[in-house]
Amino acid sequence: MRLQGVGVGRGVVTGPVLRMPEPLPEPSDSPRTVSADEEYERAAAALRATALDLTERADRLGGEGKDVLEAQALMAQDPTLLEDVRARIDASKTAERAVFEAFNTFQQMLLSMGGYMAERASDLGDLSQRAIAHVRGVPMPEVPQVDYPFILVARDLAVADTADLDLTKVLGLITAGGGPTSHTAILARSKSIVAVVGVAGAADLDDGVRVLVDAGEGVVTTNPSEKAIEAAQRRLNRRRLKVPIGPGCLADDVAIPLLANLERVEDAERARELGAEGVGLFRTEFLFLGSEVAPSRERQHEHYARLLRAFPGQKVVVRTLDAGADKPLPFLRGGPETNPALGLRGIRAMRDNEQILRDQLAALALAAAESSAELWVMAPMIADAAETAYFVTLAREYDLPVAGVMAEVPSSALLAAQILGIADFVSIGTNDLTQYTLAADRLLGTVAHYQDPWHPAVLRLIKMLGDAGAQSGRSVGVCGEAAADPLLAVILVGLGVTSLSMTPEAMADVRTELRQHTLEHARALAVRALAASTAGEARAVMLES
Ligand code: PEP
Ligand code: MG
Repeated sequence: MRLQGVGVGRGVVTGPVLRMPEPLPEPSDSPRTVSADEEYERAAAALRATALDLTERADRLGGEGKDVLEAQALMAQDPTLLEDVRARIDASKTAERAVFEAFNTFQQMLLSMGGYMAERASDLGDLSQRAIAHVRGVPMPEVPQVDYPFILVARDLAVADTADLDLTKVLGLITAGGGPTSHTAILARSKSIVAVVGVAGAADLDDGVRVLVDAGEGVVTTNPSEKAIEAAQRRLNRRRLKVPIGPGCLADDVAIPLLANLERVEDAERARELGAEGVGLFRTEFLFLGSEVAPSRERQHEHYARLLRAFPGQKVVVRTLDAGADKPLPFLRGGPETNPALGLRGIRAMRDNEQILRDQLAALALAAAESSAELWVMAPMIADAAETAYFVTLAREYDLPVAGVMAEVPSSALLAAQILGIADFVSIGTNDLTQYTLAADRLLGTVAHYQDPWHPAVLRLIKMLGDAGAQSGRSVGVCGEAAADPLLAVILVGLGVTSLSMTPEAMADVRTELRQHTLEHARALAVRALAASTAGEARAVMLES
């Protein structure tokens, strides 16, 4: 049996399947038999215990997962949630039913908001399960603890499950849900776990069945032949041949700078250790999320100054706030939307809230003036030349000398020459560019297979941008996940991309692969990939090269 999903990274691994236990059954709706106060105390104690568990895990874990687990612990103690549980118990529900219903209502609300918020809904499902397990006094359905290595198969994994996976046992991950930008995928990528997500047939994989997980191809094969295992292993070995840390360049010494995608200043040091030649995408959302009011200029200035100090003399590309719609912020104007990904987000939301954008640019300009780093600013979700002109003019008002735009809406690729007549550079956001080109929500597991930047339609748009870059002599980078795929990185360079920005962990593989191709060869491969009619055919150009 051969099951198709979306691979994360390029690894190959083989081993026996072990399934994540099924979730706890839904609590029955029969009325409580003890007093409301007693029942409420059981529910409140379970929620306290859940929060405590998560806080302990957060402390053990540290790093990126820590904040997420701490946020979940807070959610388990949310006063509105507790009030809701109390009201349901007063209306004669049992503790476990009240907890189940309260979380469920919250979850439905998030799902109806779509996008980023809907993605958070699965975290609530996990919290609900944990709390119900505490009320019942039964173990939480968790990653199996066995003493042999296995491939974990699950519907989806909650952050709390993935956060402290025993990597000596979990060889790989297969999930039915989740797209390439889901939590599971992001975690798998950052921990270099071989994973294939969005596998529709994952439910058919039974415990003990031997599988070959090939993340490079996004394929899971049951009972693989020795030959298939060897072929996959050969490919992996070829890619393992690491070149030492140093600037990114092709076999003919054409420089392709490798830059880091960062969300938090704290990760700057790690990026430098891994050889980042600067920052190609600093996502400023982190600073704003969870705030009731926009952070002050002073607070932002302090934050940006720390970032720039970490990269003296190097290029640092900071993206202005990409919020609104699926990442709603309380202080942004704009109501609920039916299709948030197509709504008031990115630069559209900022134009409606221009003072926030101005404050951000002012804080950035101040930080840049005090630093030797070369600050480039860019705006997300730019659709055309008029929006480009709006942003570039505003950036100039604040004496920011290098102002560019992200190309993530297909119209920006179609109008690339006009846009590059105004912007100093373009950085291609392949995550959104793919989502919008193929009209498939990037956060939705059911359409995850569309979220494939190898699709020739996406490659053709990138080519338009690359060509416009060459004609104008301006830089065209990629900062979407596509840049982290070493094989695709070669094609991107062949399409005219001049720098690549990625999660720092991906740099070693990309650096190694680039070293094996001249510019002329990359261009020839790109021509063949452009002629493909499916993403699979385009990928095959590289797999067979
Ligand atoms: C992208 O869309 O490719 C991108 C880099 O931006 P984000 O993932 O933050 O939307
Ligand atoms: Mg984007």
